[in-house]
Amino acid sequence: MDANTYIPDAFIDDVKTYLPEHLHLDDFIAACKKPLRRSVRVNTLKMSVAEFKQHCAQRDWQLTAIPWCDEGFWLTRPAQEEANLALGNTDLHLSGAMYVQEASSMLPPLALKESVSNSTYVLDMAAAPGSKTSQLAALMNNQGVLVANELSSSRLKVLAATLKRMGVGNCALSHFDGVIFGDYMYECFDSILLDAPCSGEGTVRKDPDALKNWSISSNISIAEVQKALIKSAFYALKPGGSLVYSTCTLTPLENQQVCDSLLNTFPDCTETVSLASLFPGAERATTAQGYLHVWPQTYDSEGFFIAKFTKTGSVDNPNQKVKKGAFPFQPFDKKPSQAFYAELKKQFGIAALNGSLMQRDKELWLFPAGFTEVADKIKYARLGIQLGTIHNHGIRLSHEFATVFGKYCSNNCFALSAEQANDYFNGKDIRLTTPVNVTGEVVLTLCGCPIGLGKWQKSKIKNSLPRDLVQNSPLITWG
Ligand code: SAM
Repeated sequence: MDANTYIPDAFIDDVKTYLPEHLHLDDFIAACKKPLRRSVRVNTLKMSVAEFKQHCAQRDWQLTAIPWCDEGFWLTRPAQEEANLALGNTDLHLSGAMYVQEASSMLPPLALKESVSNSTYVLDMAAAPGSKTSQLAALMNNQGVLVANELSSSRLKVLAATLKRMGVGNCALSHFDGVIFGDYMYECFDSILLDAPCSGEGTVRKDPDALKNWSISSNISIAEVQKALIKSAFYALKPGGSLVYSTCTLTPLENQQVCDSLLNTFPDCTETVSLASLFPGAERATTAQGYLHVWPQTYDSEGFFIAKFTKTGSVDNPNQKVKKGAFPFQPFDKKPSQAFYAELKKQFGIAALNGSLMQRDKELWLFPAGFTEVADKIKYARLGIQLGTIHNHGIRLSHEFATVFGKYCSNNCFALSAEQANDYFNGKDIRLTTPVNVTGEVVLTLCGCPIGLGKWQKSKIKNSLPRDLVQNSPLITWG
């Protein structure tokens, strides 16, 4: 029990007004004070679930399957390791093989799973720090175009870093208030996730101070933002497309009533999709309307709310807008493209990359296939991945080339030991026990996952880790 958890009386009084009949207030309060079980999601862009389980068994990490997510596990590590090594400093985390994500937070992307697997254009309207964006990218298997938007600039940076670590290659990042999408990207998306900013009432097990500034008036003002965002999302959705609305809060003001506002605004074109059979046991959290209202005591998790809608027909938006300003990229010329692919084949055994090679000044980018449809609708903070920089004698590859495409390399890969990986993430060169004859770039792997690039140099591999990713702490092992 966490005795420091702050639960104001006014909040409890409010909960009493909407707690479902089959639940008990005492159970709710007890659950709020109970520490949260730690859970992780395997990043299948980098590692299969079977491989992950093997790695965990070697480390004596205990896994318990999360019933609604094939890639999700509650995780317990040996006490000595837990006390000495932060999970974020372990090789399985640094390699991007997993993401620490609360179990109930895996539900919203799963509610979109079926539609996402048939979607080319997907929007994650409030995306940072990127747990659900990276989950969506994995469900899309890095295909199609995933637009990830975030209003806060500091959180946008965290989102970008998450996507790099996780090897996401089909993403376009944008930095707007989500309300612009309905006007600028009207009926562009096959699937949309709106994991809305909210009052976070469901997060009190992780943050004992989550309810410090709680008030009904704040719920009401956040709900106004949510209503504007859900309306914008609906305009941005193609007819036939799917929208998932989620929050990590409990109050109907920010949940059911926001859904009501959507249903009332577009009564003829909105169909609620029941989530009662999303996974065995989902009916325990399903409301009369078919939404999932996950209370902390329901599955021993954080509180969450998830609703799904289909747009059954087009809706008119009289405020559609067109972006001004030129598009700063141009297709990379045919001849240098051929030379680039020939070099990739020779060096790494990769014949082609899925997407379009684009150039901006000396930068070479790979845009996701299908990007042209949405390229000029808004200004992106970043579109696709930067593959490298153009020099007189060819392309100098970038870190991201390795993290996204390293798994397809058949030549020039080097598996780092724990000690070498520690040196790599601390910005040091990697010493080799036997000198090598090869030259050029090499993809470095950890736990079988590509983590970056180096350069062969006889008895060492020169470190090419971008400076902003260099860490200054002991990693992977302790003692
Ligand atoms: N989906 C994220 C994840 O799973 O990692 C968590 C998103 S968090 C619940 C909501 C995010 O919305 C915050 O990062 C917040 O900065 C952002 N946000 C707040 N107001 C916004 C707005 N008007 N438009 C877009 N994003 C907004």
